[in-house]
Amino acid sequence: MAGTSGNMSVYLRDSGLMAITPSSYDYSIMEEKDIVVTDLEGNVAEGWLKPSSEWRLHAEIYKSLPHVGAVVHTHSPYATSFAVLRKEIPVILIEMEPFIKGSVEVSPYAVQGSAEVGKNAVPILERKNACLMANHGVVAVGADMAQAYINSVYTEDAAKIYHMALCVGEPVVIGEKGE
Ligand code: 13P
Ligand code: ZN
Repeated sequence: MAGTSGNMSVYLRDSGLMAITPSSYDYSIMEEKDIVVTDLEGNVAEGWLKPSSEWRLHAEIYKSLPHVGAVVHTHSPYATSFAVLRKEIPVILIEMEPFIKGSVEVSPYAVQGSAEVGKNAVPILERKNACLMANHGVVAVGADMAQAYINSVYTEDAAKIYHMALCVGEPVVIGEKGE
């Protein structure tokens, strides 16, 4: 995370509440007491800070995808560079199938903080555990925080390795050479 970019949340489906990181708050000093609890309409139930400005992104995903219990959003640089290029990352690593469920697709551009950011990502996240948001960053999902987090890590790892491979040659996509 550069600066205070990115945000993460977990959803407690039974209560309809999500616990989300505060907006523009230094990660190095963030503690449990700083996490904000809101409903999916942005009403704060607990906390003393403002919820992430991307709470609508998280809420749209929880409203549409019942299997998702946690969301991690990052601006991790290698993955975000492909989001800027609006270029899908093909399946070039063995981890991509089990973790991401295939290639890393790009969702259409939307203004940050809008519900459209989430609405545009949902059709991809119905099938995949991560996607790139055009000119913005990564959004990864999972049943819990550990899964959403590792899916965000593997998205950045795939982007970094694809970038490095592109620098020195032509990456082979799994399946393309008959594997
Ligand atoms: P917040 O600090 O409000 O969570 O915003 C960071 C971000 O990534 C905006 O897209
Ligand atoms: Zn962002």
